[in-house]
Amino acid sequence: MQCPRCKHKNSKVLESRTTQEDHAIRRRRECLSCHFRFSTYEQVEILDLSVIKRDGRREPYYFEKLYNGIVKAFEKRPDTEKDIRRFAESIERDIHKKAKGGEVKSSEIGAIVIKRLKRKDPVAYLRFASVYLQFQDIKDFEEAINVFPNYKIQNKKTINN
Ligand SMILES: [Zn+2]
Repeated sequence: MQCPRCKHKNSKVLESRTTQEDHAIRRRRECLSCHFRFSTYEQVEILDLSVIKRDGRREPYYFEKLYNGIVKAFEKRPDTEKDIRRFAESIERDIHKKAKGGEVKSSEIGAIVIKRLKRKDPVAYLRFASVYLQFQDIKDFEEAINVFPNYKIQNKKTINN
């Protein structure tokens, strides 16, 4: 992204988030040459893919929505933004494989994310699962934790805090 002040071609992204309507991404950038800070609004790429929600409504698929959910799960984990983005992109490829006729169920997306997180990071998995599967009480957590015998004690401590 070209710097509006010195026209240098490279900038780094300081912050990235979707606007309220989810149709654009606002990126705060800093020029790598003169350090001028500016923002860009970029159109979200709309793929030819619809998500069928639980109540039967359809909405366009947005990568940023998937990405933001995964970022939340990885809060305070050691993974860099770049690692997480790459991970989200590989999940997106799984979603495309699962889609039929340009449509995919939101429950199928959730199942794919959970399956991939389970293999990658127990803490991120539990965070995502507790929101997505709407855990009701500590029993639900214990069942989910049992998937990772080695992490049992560590995670119990975290949850009881
Ligand atoms: Zn500049």
